[in-house]
Amino acid sequence: MKNLLSATVLCFFLITTTTTLAQSPCKVGVQAPPVGFSSWAPGSEIKVYVFDNNFADNELPFLLSALDAWNAASPLTESKVRFQYKGTTAGQLYCENCLTIRRAPVFDKSNRHLATLRASSGTPNQTITWANITIDPLLTNARTLTNAVVHELGHSFGLLDCYSCIAHSTVMIKFKGLNVPNEMNAPSDCDLAQVKAIYQSLAQLKSKRSAKPLVVDEGEEPTDDDTPIVVPKP
Ligand SMILES: [Zn+2]
Repeated sequence: MKNLLSATVLCFFLITTTTTLAQSPCKVGVQAPPVGFSSWAPGSEIKVYVFDNNFADNELPFLLSALDAWNAASPLTESKVRFQYKGTTAGQLYCENCLTIRRAPVFDKSNRHLATLRASSGTPNQTITWANITIDPLLTNARTLTNAVVHELGHSFGLLDCYSCIAHSTVMIKFKGLNVPNEMNAPSDCDLAQVKAIYQSLAQLKSKRSAKPLVVDEGEEPTDDDTPIVVPKP
């Protein structure tokens, strides 16, 4: 059965380790977001569609720049995940490795969420099969649109919100207001370190599985013996 996850109710799997990049300490909850959401399968090509007439022509480049930012990060995170913009759609798509982006009311004053990500995963290691991003129609600032999509894509790489993180340390910080850009147009070093850790653990999981013997003799299933009993004549 598929598990439907919502980025708006993320409160599980808090990883409290500290990752260290070249000169940049990444303490979870300070500079680095916790992880625990589902993520795209390593190496997957994600087909991206935008709802018809949901975004103005001059908004689209700001939306697509968020995809470019994560594509540029792909070699650094070892995810090898890439987004490809495929055009518009009349409705939600549920195809494998499909991401649909639309507008609908989702703004939550309590946590200042301007957008949400919903993802469906149906495999044991929780890789995403399809996802959608919903942007609130009240979000009209083009730069904030980029920030919001970069943030939601961060969820799709396994990152959780980090409301305690300091400004400019991660794309997963809380927004200050509905149309206030947070200037996070691309994942930070600490975001990259966290995503890299996720994909390295996925790779370890895969190599452990493939280390099992290729041929396993499970024996024969027991079957009823239907050989006719021949009773010799006396
Ligand atoms: Zn979020």
